[in-house]
Amino acid sequence: MICENISFENGLLRFAGRNPLELAAKYGTPLYLYDEDRVRANMRRFRNAVKTHFGEGSEVLYASKAASFKQIYRIAAEEGIWTDVVSSGEIATAQAAGFDLSHSCFHSNNKTPEDISYAMDRGVGYFAVDCPEELYALAAESAARGITQKIILRITPGIDPHTYEAVATGRVDSKFGSAIETGQAENITALALSLGNLKLCGYHCHVGSQLFDSEVQLRTAEIMMNFVADMKDKFGFEAQVLDLGGGFGVRYTEEQPAPDAASVIADVAKLLKSTAAARGVKMPDIFIEPGRAIVADAALMLYTVGSVKRIPGYKQYVSVDGGMTDNPRYALYKSPYTFYDASRPVSEKTERFTVAGRCCESGDLLGENIPLPADICRGDILACCTAGAYQFAMSSGYNRVPRPGLVMLKGGEDYVAVRRQTPEDMAEFDI
Ligand SMILES: *Cc1c(COP(=O)(O)O)cnc(C)c1O
Repeated sequence: MICENISFENGLLRFAGRNPLELAAKYGTPLYLYDEDRVRANMRRFRNAVKTHFGEGSEVLYASKAASFKQIYRIAAEEGIWTDVVSSGEIATAQAAGFDLSHSCFHSNNKTPEDISYAMDRGVGYFAVDCPEELYALAAESAARGITQKIILRITPGIDPHTYEAVATGRVDSKFGSAIETGQAENITALALSLGNLKLCGYHCHVGSQLFDSEVQLRTAEIMMNFVADMKDKFGFEAQVLDLGGGFGVRYTEEQPAPDAASVIADVAKLLKSTAAARGVKMPDIFIEPGRAIVADAALMLYTVGSVKRIPGYKQYVSVDGGMTDNPRYALYKSPYTFYDASRPVSEKTERFTVAGRCCESGDLLGENIPLPADICRGDILACCTAGAYQFAMSSGYNRVPRPGLVMLKGGEDYVAVRRQTPEDMAEFDI
């Protein structure tokens, strides 16, 4: 099965043991359905692996850009998970949920002056600093406040993870971080050590997303630990924290492997410990930042089928009541997905369809060459699997299509975590 919480009963789709048709009828479509139990299980799996292999001071930070809403921060707090935030909006959401922001790290390659001050006002624990300009801006702001801000430096280890160009962030020419290869990583270390009101705690890197080859994570870890050792040799600075980022791969289609994050973490730990020992540095606390791997397989997206259009000799389309406004990932990256017609038993009698959204935009597609029942028709509920990461988070108000609601499932119960927007909500901020 594509996700562990997907099953079939008499050929009909079940999600987290529930009938999607009943939930679609109760809440309407499009609908983001999140399996809270699965979110918690994913968080526990990462936390156990990190605490077991790296020790108590090491932490899992949920990269909340993958899906940011109040309830997810409450769940993270309950599970002993820290969080990454990337904007004042995410900070405000976490704070509104009562999340302890000293357990957060603020990322972004260009934090605005307003962001910096907003984050410091609320006691964000760490800033991951991208470049020298930002270092100066942070030093000035923390001096003005008379505080010492904890920071880690974002380093570009020079890894090309062979993923899509748009999500490859570890290469020397990335817009993120300071590169080891060019000497900029060393220079920013010297600068950080020389400035007052900042406490340099260590380093951060994040080389990309959807990593399936543990070789990329192992190489990255080794490069970063050697860099830690080089900086100790050069400046006498011993990093207390080494943050290795996220990027753990997730399965969207049957062809993709089912990665085992815990075993990757175990292998990385072994390599880091031997590298640290060989170079004579003490093991820093390790942070990891999974986003997708916490939430992706915890959600199912439900749509209602509108028209089914067959263009003889060309293509056939299934149009749904959502699209790029609730999930722009296919339009942006051609990200593959697995779909099921929840209204019909799975059968061998499938045809290939293009799944189209409802926006006035020909690129508004959710998938192409998708096998669906030949008799799919108007009114059927179409389910998109592995729908929890970067969908709700990337939703937009294009065409003034209201954003779908987000419902969570917990131990057989269902509850609204984000209410569905109304057409009137779309003009809420217009003067
Ligand atoms: C996006 C991002 C992550 C999470 O990436 P996933 O692929 O969702 O695990 C972690 N850290 C940083 C700095 C990021 O930008």
